[in-house]
Amino acid sequence: MMRFDIMTLFPDLVRTVLGESIIGRAQKSGAITVKTHNIRDYSEDKHRRVDDTPYGGGKGMLMMAPPIYNCYEAILAQQSAEAEPPVRRRVIYLSPTGSVLNQKKAAELANNYDNLILLCGHYEGVDRRIVDEIVDEEISIGDFVLTGGEIPACILVDCVARLVDGVLSDAECYEKESISSGLLEYPQYTRPYEFHGVKVPDVLISGHHANIDRWRDEQALEMTKKLRPDLLEQEKSST
Ligand code: SAM
Repeated sequence: MMRFDIMTLFPDLVRTVLGESIIGRAQKSGAITVKTHNIRDYSEDKHRRVDDTPYGGGKGMLMMAPPIYNCYEAILAQQSAEAEPPVRRRVIYLSPTGSVLNQKKAAELANNYDNLILLCGHYEGVDRRIVDEIVDEEISIGDFVLTGGEIPACILVDCVARLVDGVLSDAECYEKESISSGLLEYPQYTRPYEFHGVKVPDVLISGHHANIDRWRDEQALEMTKKLRPDLLEQEKSST
C-alpha cells in the first residue's frame, strides 16, 4: 500500500489526471491512496495569497514558505490521526533542479517508502527555505522547464504506483518491458494478422514458445542497439 500526498495550487488538475484508467482503478481498489492538498487553503493572508515578489528583484513571483509549511504540517497531523499512519515517508519537491527521474528511482521509491509527499511548485518556484526545511529529495522529470510541478507529480505517481503490489494484474507486465529489463521491449503485434500488406512475423504464430522467447530477446537487443544504444553502454559500465 502506498499513500501519495500532493501539495499543489491546482488540485483539480492532479485529481483529473490520476482519477482515470489504471491509476484511478488502483485508488478505488485501495492499492494506493492519492490525497491532494490545496496550498492556498493554508495561506495566512486574508486574500489567500500564496506568492510574492523575490527579494533582490527579478521577474515573476515566488511561492511563499508559510502556506506550504502549514499545508505540510496539516498532512502530518492528518496522518497521525489515522489508525495505521505511514511510517516510511519521503518528501519530494518536483523541480528542474532535481536529479532526473528514471525507472531505477521509481523502483527505489516504490520499494522503500509507504508515503510520498510531493510538493508542486508554480510561477518561479518556491522560497528556498521550505526546500531546505522539509524536502528530502528534489526530482526533475527531464531537462526542460514546465509551468508547474503538477504534471511532473502525476508522472511520478504513475510510474511509482504501477510498481506497487496490486496495481497491475501481473508483475510480469513490467519485468520485461522497456527500460526495466535494461533493454527496450521487443516489438508487439495484435489482430489483424495483416495490416496494409504487412503480416505478423511467422514465429509469433508458430506456437513454439522457446522460439518466440528467443526471437523476442533478439529483437529487444536489436531495438535497443538501433534506438537507445546509450542503454547498452550504461549496462556495460555498471557491470
Ligand atoms: N525558476 C525555476 C528554475 O529556474 O529552476 C523554474 C520554476 S518552474 C517555471 C515552476 C515549477 O514547475 C517548479 O517549481 C517545479 O515545481 C515545476 N517544474 C518545472 N519544470 C520541471 C521539471 N523539469 N521537473 C519537475 N518539476 C518541474
